[in-house]
Amino acid sequence: MLIDAMRNRFLPLIALALSSCSTVTYDVVIRGGRVMDPESGLDAVRNVGIQGRGIAAITEDDISGRQTLEAASRVVSPGFIDLHQHGDSAEVYRAKIHDGVTSALELELGVEDVEAWYREREGKTILNFGAAVSHPDHRRLAMGGKLLKSRLSGDWAVAPMTAEQIAALAQRLSQGLAHGAAGIGMLIAYTPGTTAEELDAVFRVAKEHNAAAYVHIRTNRKDDRSLQEVLAPARRHGTQLHVVHLNSTGQDRAMDLLARIRAAQAEGIDVTTESYPYNRGSTTIDSHAFDDWQKMPDKEIGEYIWVETGENLTRETFAKFKPTGGLIISPASYSEESVRKLVADPIVMVASDGMWLTNGKAHPRTWGSYARVLGHYVRDQKVLSLMDALRKMTLLPANRLSQRIPGMKKKGRLQVDADADLVVFDPAAIIDKATYQNPVQNSAGINHVVVNGVVTLRDGSIVDGAAGGKAIRAAVGSRNGG
Ligand SMILES: [Zn+2]
Repeated sequence: MLIDAMRNRFLPLIALALSSCSTVTYDVVIRGGRVMDPESGLDAVRNVGIQGRGIAAITEDDISGRQTLEAASRVVSPGFIDLHQHGDSAEVYRAKIHDGVTSALELELGVEDVEAWYREREGKTILNFGAAVSHPDHRRLAMGGKLLKSRLSGDWAVAPMTAEQIAALAQRLSQGLAHGAAGIGMLIAYTPGTTAEELDAVFRVAKEHNAAAYVHIRTNRKDDRSLQEVLAPARRHGTQLHVVHLNSTGQDRAMDLLARIRAAQAEGIDVTTESYPYNRGSTTIDSHAFDDWQKMPDKEIGEYIWVETGENLTRETFAKFKPTGGLIISPASYSEESVRKLVADPIVMVASDGMWLTNGKAHPRTWGSYARVLGHYVRDQKVLSLMDALRKMTLLPANRLSQRIPGMKKKGRLQVDADADLVVFDPAAIIDKATYQNPVQNSAGINHVVVNGVVTLRDGSIVDGAAGGKAIRAAVGSRNGG
């Protein structure tokens, strides 16, 4: 009786509520796609309603919006978060959108002037952007070193720092973090003068700001020393550590290094890693790694590609370009099998190491890393599941940043109240097109991209004037981010 009475009293209200629900018009609706969320495990056909910059509904109900993106037989995923993207021009950012990337961060090399870098992008950037404060830049400045064509070479990179210089470096990095830098970027392989004392100071500063150190560790293919030297200060200070591009750093020993990283995680060290899905690297010819280049046999020199033109180098052209600097692509120095194992591993994030452009060109990973994982490795080679791949491109990188930048808890997820950073792609067609010789080719199979609710790519074309990108930045002035 009571139930009947209640039903009678509340039925009109329920009906009213339902009818008001059905009249909601969302800003954007993504209709009929296979919605995949790596955190909750949702993998089902749903309509997604976007209101403002956030996801407002994920439903089987028919919903309507001022704009509709059709997604039948497509996958709808959180937008990809690229922790390792050097090129930060509008041109490169557009190429990243075509590869499904909605957030691109320069965390390895970082930037010298954090404040200026963010200011330049505010309000006019197509995707979410973030940067670390640069250890090499501030090392050079703390030592009074000269800036050459490359930011990664010079006497300052080879010499050890004095105690006073280390203190000045720590002060500079601390200031960059106080300006909201997303972390500290280090390339110890390019600053061979870096000592244990210097690392200790840098990791201490990172910990004080609740930031991670993003590190290109020294090249050492014989044992674990180059990894141990960064695990030691991470352990000592409790600093978050991210080891970049385990593929090119570890080469055919990458899985041994990965086992060491797993052991460190089990020990309680907050250490993570990433890989890009290629077995050839790219670097600058004037790097100290090539100081003995003349000892290389002709055959090996001939395997390097001069990015600007796509030509293979010779002893003569190597000698010509070495002093002036510029981008090169390295020979395949590790196996495709190593790359496959890293791509398949559940804890190795996908990050592109996408480069800045020279003569409009760069390593193909700048254009194709994400589509290559989803097309070549997930669909064609079946080395991992689609959901596992998406987790490595979305949730894991968001989690890497969220201690320092709590707003990242709203990214890398496809859930109500998450930021509407979304990518819609055709799992049957997605593939990278960029090659070493002809890199400037957008990935295929990415249909729509939404950045903070702004439709940015529609039916494969960038929407004119789209600028939905927001800063991925820690709170300015705060020691703990926020
Ligand atoms: Zn690197």
